[in-house]
Amino acid sequence: VLEIRNLHKAYSGLEVIKGVDITARRGDVVSLIGSSGSGKSTILRCANLLEDSQKGDILFEGEAVHWRGEGDGRRPGDPRQVLRIRTNLSMVFQQFNLWAHMTILQNVMEAPVTVLGRDKAEVEASARRYLDKVGIGDKCDAWPAQLSGGQQQRAAIARALCMEPKALLFDEPTSALDPELEQEVVRVIKDLAAEGRTMLIVTHDMKMAQDVSDHVVFLHKGRIEEQGPPDTLFANPESPRLRGFLSSTQ
Ligand code: ATP
Ligand code: MG
Repeated sequence: VLEIRNLHKAYSGLEVIKGVDITARRGDVVSLIGSSGSGKSTILRCANLLEDSQKGDILFEGEAVHWRGEGDGRRPGDPRQVLRIRTNLSMVFQQFNLWAHMTILQNVMEAPVTVLGRDKAEVEASARRYLDKVGIGDKCDAWPAQLSGGQQQRAAIARALCMEPKALLFDEPTSALDPELEQEVVRVIKDLAAEGRTMLIVTHDMKMAQDVSDHVVFLHKGRIEEQGPPDTLFANPESPRLRGFLSSTQ
């Protein structure tokens, strides 16, 4: 579904992503772990073109992003392709970013109706289905402020699902939550993994990474320091940096 090849990204001349390759095939769950500032969020944002990158390729379903210009001047050249990629790689953020002036149902329906132009009645039916699926089907008419953090994050996941994306990108989906509420969201992510959804997950939650991932990537200062299947990576880390990182997160 998604392939990132030799990605380089700099902020005002300072390189923060230094040649990263990541592949997520259909049904894969890939987790990105690493210390603060290692570049995890930047990779997700580059992948769905929220952020420009200076070098390397991004392929969505085998189709490479068409770039115009080079280096610092490089931008995606085809607006329709950008829209296709953004809507197919739905992002769930740490801060749920629900619209406060819309009910939960309206939040979930908004983008499919306005961005994708889909039929309102059909979108409403699928929005209700996704809200049920994440366990808050009874909150359709509530306002975001009336929900707990865990419920708001599950609404944000329903909103991402309602775009019918080819993959979901999660950036620290549980780190703004209290531990009890965190588990509600972890359970939803586990269900999605069991269903065979393609996901790229940035997380501090090593237990979740171990439980849901097919592949784990450990980043250090903008490079992949070590990667592998979770059982190997967590049980037998080779890199001293990864060993240090894992012991700091216990
Ligand atoms: P965290 O775990 O704290 O979320 P992260 O691994 O997601 O960290 P990024 O947010 O991707 O890290 O940041 C990678 C590097 O890029 C950091 O050194 C950060 O300071 C820098 N950076 C990120 N966003 C910007 C920006 N908008 N302008 C300048 N530098 C930035
Ligand atoms: Mg981050």
